[in-house]
Amino acid sequence: MDHCDVSLGDYDGDAATFYNEEPRTARKPYKCNECMEDIAKGERHWAVVGKWDDEIRTYRFCSLCWEIIGEFSENGKTFGVVWDEFQDAWGSGASLQGCLNRLETAAAKEHMRRQWMKWQESERARAMRYRKS
Ligand SMILES: [Zn+2]
Repeated sequence: MDHCDVSLGDYDGDAATFYNEEPRTARKPYKCNECMEDIAKGERHWAVVGKWDDEIRTYRFCSLCWEIIGEFSENGKTFGVVWDEFQDAWGSGASLQGCLNRLETAAAKEHMRRQWMKWQESERARAMRYRKS
């Protein structure tokens, strides 16, 4: 079965006392807070500015991760853990195809497939380390 039981946004920390999310054009290069890939200067992306625990923080997301966060979030959004969540899910039997089926655009599907391949590579590297020791 092509199942994909991933649900993001079970945020159980303190709620932000101030929160704003908006699309922006990068004035300089950034890295996406989720996939760690580059956000090029001039690229449209999403910026979240919030105040948690008296500290104002800004997170930036490439438009593809943002789309995926939106598709898989239930309530509040949780940041910085999206691909960890998917890796956990895939590691415990969720299917890549099932997850891809929940996405709308070809670009988002391609992005997820790439994250999955990165995860596969790191799993292989980990298995090799175990064999050597
Ligand atoms: Zn990203």
